[in-house]
Amino acid sequence: MNRVFNFGAGPSAIPLEVLEEAQKNLVDYKGEGLSIMEASHRSKMYDEVHNEAISLMKELYKIPEDYDVLLLQGGASLQFAMVPLNLYRGGKVQYVDSGSWSSKAIKEAKVQNLNMEVIASSKETTYDRIPADIAFDDDADYAYITSNNTIYGTGYKSFPDTKAPLVVDASSDIFSYPVDWSKVDLMFAGAQKNAGPSGLTIVIIKKELLDRAEDSVPTILKYKTHAEKDSLYHTPPTFGIYLLSLIMKWLKENGGIEAIAEKNEEKAGVLYDAIDKSNGFYVGHAQKESRSLMNVSFNIKDANGENNAELEAKFVALATGKGLIGLKGHRSIGGLRASIYNAMSLEGVQALVDLMELFQKENS
Ligand SMILES: *Cc1c(COP(=O)(O)O)cnc(C)c1O
Repeated sequence: MNRVFNFGAGPSAIPLEVLEEAQKNLVDYKGEGLSIMEASHRSKMYDEVHNEAISLMKELYKIPEDYDVLLLQGGASLQFAMVPLNLYRGGKVQYVDSGSWSSKAIKEAKVQNLNMEVIASSKETTYDRIPADIAFDDDADYAYITSNNTIYGTGYKSFPDTKAPLVVDASSDIFSYPVDWSKVDLMFAGAQKNAGPSGLTIVIIKKELLDRAEDSVPTILKYKTHAEKDSLYHTPPTFGIYLLSLIMKWLKENGGIEAIAEKNEEKAGVLYDAIDKSNGFYVGHAQKESRSLMNVSFNIKDANGENNAELEAKFVALATGKGLIGLKGHRSIGGLRASIYNAMSLEGVQALVDLMELFQKENS
């Protein structure tokens, strides 16, 4: 077996131990004589998996009692529509525009023709930072942020204080650091970056928000529908939830969210250090105070300080040949991007840094 180091932004790396455990049980789940994929979502065998995934999330992420954890489909993108459908009460909603994904969420709120304000944006500086001075109005129906900007490689160091319910798109940094739940009222994430395969979406919602949706909201799009049925209103993505449960066990065995947060700091530190020590050969996209610990977006510069797309392509090809894949930056900003989610090892980051140092010696 020759596993690569997968720096892809999503779907992305899943811990090998998790894949091996799933493989061991794939055909005959714990002696039941069938795969978990083939089991009814109403069966006892599946029920245990479902409940374990939810209870481990609550335990590890320290989710308070007055929140529900929902397991849905439709990706994070469906949440761009479901959030306003469920939380808008005819007042106003306020968004921070910190990158492509928040722009998409803003666009989706506009589609619903509600009273929407973008209260802060870093668009003018190509989203190289989290906007400064974020101040939501107390009376907004909700306030909306994207905790980690997957494409531009920026992230919040702490969540803004708001009296309005705070909605957080945590698709690319869920489970990567402990959350102060006193600040967050709804968090959602597509699973495919830090919590499993695509096709599964996690929504963590304060129970008091469940009653806001108008009757006219379609049943399947109401959070309450899923909360009342324990995310078994209809067939959930059972195999993805099984993998989520294994990832939660893996996190627990590795010391939980606090331990993974430390490891994430260390990994990102090694990579940003290499960028900062390169005398301007490698330059990070994000301003230092806004640097993401999950996605490191950077460029290779020529002697005049211009982006050198040719060298960037050469680096990506070289890295791919050495089993370091997924390093090409997003098409919107080009350059390079290393996604170093929970499942990426320090060993993988070190291999990348070693190659970066060698490449600089040979090409500068
Ligand atoms: C990937 C991503 C999305 C989109 O997720 P889908 O599940 O593909 O809809 C939304 N927000 C952020 C921050 C992301 O990283």
